[in-house]
Amino acid sequence: MANAFQDIGAGLSRRLARNLPFRPARWRLDAPVVAFTFDDFPASAADNAAPILEDAGMRGTFYLATGLVGSAENGQPIAGLDRVEALAAAGHEIGAHTHGHIDVQRAPDSALIADVEINGLLIAEAAGAAPASFAYPYGIVSLRAKQTLMHRYAGLRGIAGGINRGVFDLAHLRAEELYDSTSSPASIEALLDGLERLGGWLIFYTHDVRPEPTGIGCSPAHFAQTVAAVRRRGIRVEPVATTLRRIGAAGAAP
Ligand SMILES: [Zn+2]
Repeated sequence: MANAFQDIGAGLSRRLARNLPFRPARWRLDAPVVAFTFDDFPASAADNAAPILEDAGMRGTFYLATGLVGSAENGQPIAGLDRVEALAAAGHEIGAHTHGHIDVQRAPDSALIADVEINGLLIAEAAGAAPASFAYPYGIVSLRAKQTLMHRYAGLRGIAGGINRGVFDLAHLRAEELYDSTSSPASIEALLDGLERLGGWLIFYTHDVRPEPTGIGCSPAHFAQTVAAVRRRGIRVEPVATTLRRIGAAGAAP
């Protein structure tokens, strides 16, 4: 019985955390913005997606769970610190994704804080800068975790779909999947049509980038086609931290 109540409580917390804005911001930039983000991040994202972005004069955001370095997630080898350093040197953003790739809802506060502090220190060491933005592992958000984490970063990204515009939540930025399994050139064009029509900030996220991607990954062909579509429209592309700085969010209290 206690477990049933706990489950109901956890479900309610997730729903509230998704829907209650905690760090509301208003989108004021005239021109729309796109960000390409990679969670975990597999070596294939660094090897196959970063060059496509660089060739287009763009930079992305790579969310690193430092504890996964040297191992695999979802069957995908995670990028090593050599790749992290190279991406940072090339101007990409290295963002925070917890050290242990933990479910922030289940981790007690003390463990969560210790974990994200290690993650921040290791990223600062490898990338030369402390992470300015964060992506929730598994996209899981809870009220308590959000309260614990929301002032540690300028912005925190989830996996709830949509474009950030009007009043949006810096502690739970919306993002759209860039997966071969769930998006197509046509669905991307439709998203970009909406972005150009109504403005805002469209954040794509994916994981592995390779010819036969996992269900949560993207092929180089689909990735390149999406980059080309954004470029053709002349939409600005930049790392998440850059947009956060331009909208005045980077100065969030530590
Ligand atoms: Zn992840």
